[in-house]
Amino acid sequence: MTLYEYTCHTHGAFESMHRLGEAPPDASCPVCGGTARRVISAPVVISARRAALFSAVERSEKSRHDPELVTSIPPSGAPRRQVSMTPELWKLPRP
Ligand SMILES: [Zn+2]
Repeated sequence: MTLYEYTCHTHGAFESMHRLGEAPPDASCPVCGGTARRVISAPVVISARRAALFSAVERSEKSRHDPELVTSIPPSGAPRRQVSMTPELWKLPRP
């Protein structure tokens, strides 16, 4: 979803979320319900580091409502993912 900016002649600018490239050229003003025109503005450019941060936040938000679940046990011959553990975890009993 992308934030698009619209302007009502009476009430000024407001923002509305739409899918990228699917924003209509006109929208209803949230105050008066009149026609507001989409405003073309400069895109926000973010660094790769901030993009990674935004991506992590987005994944976190998504997992709150739509968590990824394991639906079956992996086959016994499947490669196991190595998980680094703190030394405290090595003290726990193993199967
Ligand atoms: Zn208005």
